[in-house]
Amino acid sequence: MNKNKLKKRLKKVKSNIKKSCKKVGRNPSEITIVAVSKNHFSKKIKFFQKNNIDIFGENRVQELRRKNNKLNSEVKWHFIGHLQRNKVKYITRMDNCLMIESLDSDRLAKEINKRAKKNNRVMPVLVEVNTSGDENKYGFQVEETIDFLEKAENKYDNLDIRGLMTIVPYLDNPEDTRPYFKKLANLKNKANKKGLNLTELSMGMTNDYQVAIEEGATIVRIGTALFGERKY
Ligand SMILES: *Cc1c(COP(=O)(O)O)cnc(C)c1O
Repeated sequence: MNKNKLKKRLKKVKSNIKKSCKKVGRNPSEITIVAVSKNHFSKKIKFFQKNNIDIFGENRVQELRRKNNKLNSEVKWHFIGHLQRNKVKYITRMDNCLMIESLDSDRLAKEINKRAKKNNRVMPVLVEVNTSGDENKYGFQVEETIDFLEKAENKYDNLDIRGLMTIVPYLDNPEDTRPYFKKLANLKNKANKKGLNLTELSMGMTNDYQVAIEEGATIVRIGTALFGERKY
């Protein structure tokens, strides 16, 4: 592990966030970095923790649990991957897992609600939206999202739906991702006009977080730009 490299990357990401915020008149304090640590060692997580990164993102339950056992309880997580219903209990049980960003079906909502209740907690979640309509991506279709949000609001007392999340296609020119981010931001506004209270927009990864911030992201999920390339 090369600390200087990690330090440099973190500095770069922070300065890019500042630049994007400045461009559109936002305050960098509005942006939460979720450092996506999947496929990287816990050592690197410790390094970023020491450098004031508070939240880490994992997309596999097993890997999250393994790392959580290794690290101190100060580490905070967001779960960001497709979650199988039979593994929900491991997440809701983990007090330092602060959010499930990838609520992608009503059946999953029902299970998270049930398990959260058992653990006496209200689980913060984001509803994942498939903004590109890509068949291979999880998430609600844009057209069905508001309907789900309105129903879930009444139906699930142990879910706290904080906002929306999307994973956009990787495009060589990040500028081309802008329409997807706009779509998610519009959807949030539309939902709030209907009386919902969504505050978070989790959008943007290494390739396109600057565009996402310009379009209103409050959470950016950044892996490679902080940790370096993933080796599988
Ligand atoms: C891996 C992953 C990321 C981070 O991807 P990078 O391109 O490395 O920044 C963000 N969000 C989700 C859901 C991921 O699975």
